[in-house]
Amino acid sequence: MDAHLGALTSFVSRDVHHPGHAKAQAYIKEQLGALAYYGWKIESQRTVYQGIPLENIFATIDVRGVGPDTGPIGPIGNTGWILVSAHYDSIANRTPGWRPSIDPAPGADDNATGTAALLEFARVLSTYRPGAPVESRIVLAFFDGEELFFKGSGAYMSTLQKPYPYKAAINLDMVGFNPITDRLDLLWYTNVSAGLRDRALKVNETFKIGLAPLNAQFAADGNTIMDAAPFGIAGIPSIAFVQRYGENDATFPGNYTFHTVNDTPDKITNKRLWLKAAKLTLAVALDLANEPAQ
Ligand SMILES: [Zn+2]
Repeated sequence: MDAHLGALTSFVSRDVHHPGHAKAQAYIKEQLGALAYYGWKIESQRTVYQGIPLENIFATIDVRGVGPDTGPIGPIGNTGWILVSAHYDSIANRTPGWRPSIDPAPGADDNATGTAALLEFARVLSTYRPGAPVESRIVLAFFDGEELFFKGSGAYMSTLQKPYPYKAAINLDMVGFNPITDRLDLLWYTNVSAGLRDRALKVNETFKIGLAPLNAQFAADGNTIMDAAPFGIAGIPSIAFVQRYGENDATFPGNYTFHTVNDTPDKITNKRLWLKAAKLTLAVALDLANEPAQ
């Protein structure tokens, strides 16, 4: 994950107006493309928001049985899929005088941490050979335009038809900063997400992942600026993991460098938290995947 974070922050900025944005897209596609042999399907969704081109990148896998040539273990239907997402765009508009097309927006914590975790999930899932049936498609979504109020994820949600393909949506956004505790906030969206919230709390205990506290917070609407929001509001069980929700400016240990030119890799002060957040996300996704299709 550290190597991915280093690469993603080396493009100076992943702001939608900056040339580094396209370099980040190319990096994500190249990394996923290198795993295509394992059965990943890689797709893009291009949209335009106020004249700005946005690109969501998706990597889809149906986990395979033992041996390189066996197909998916279970029958994969049109529903019951699992969406695991992170936004790769960045912004630094809290730095006074910041010029989007020229100035840095390293976005190390926000959200190279989540993006790097998804790239690591792709590597891990490539060779994951479960003993039990897996009947769920797993989709890794690298969303664009989150910093424009989740325009990428919102555009994707608007393309989904009922019955929705997803039984769960899990989002990672800013998970590498907290010098005091391994605290992770677990946002859950509307009452349909209560079961998914409880599953995440249980997985943290059962697999001794060690997030403490794992702090569940209810999100009634889309005012929480996270890519899980469009899915939760639409009625898909949806949760987001973030190191601290709210009060980013006022209260330590919120990451004071968020949305500034100073959100650099050295501010990822809690790599243990980052790793635990990644482990929990993947463990929840696999816990869902190992459950019989509905
Ligand atoms: Zn973010």
